[in-house]
Amino acid sequence: MPTLFEKIIAGELPANIVYRDSRVVAFLDIRPAAPVHILIVSHKVIPTTDDIADEDESLIGHMVIVARDLARQQGIAKSGYRLIINCNPDSGQDVYHLHLHLLGGRPLGPLVQRT
Ligand code: 5GP
Repeated sequence: MPTLFEKIIAGELPANIVYRDSRVVAFLDIRPAAPVHILIVSHKVIPTTDDIADEDESLIGHMVIVARDLARQQGIAKSGYRLIINCNPDSGQDVYHLHLHLLGGRPLGPLVQRT
């Protein structure tokens, strides 16, 4: 079964794509949690960060570089932003296809809700 994000990458589901190259696709989150909320998604299907292989090191670095450049393009590099990767149930991970959240455009508050 292809993941939801594989379908978006393949053009089988619509998305507002803001960047694409041979290794990643970036598109707007359907339920934005901040004025800027972009998902940087690897073409390679890696379910979670726990499934990242040593050979994926440059891909992971590339995802961060793309996030950096998108933050600059979105005008939030100086005001600030947060990069998040959720992993497995306690994190609230919903889509099991590696993706980096780029969030910004307002003060984002505490990193994690204190209970
Ligand atoms: P996760 O919880 O796995 O880290 O994040 C998954 C993200 O994917 C959520 O922020 C959610 O809003 C987003 N999302 C879920 N379904 C879709 C969709 O069909 N299109 C887009 N653009 N984003 C989606």
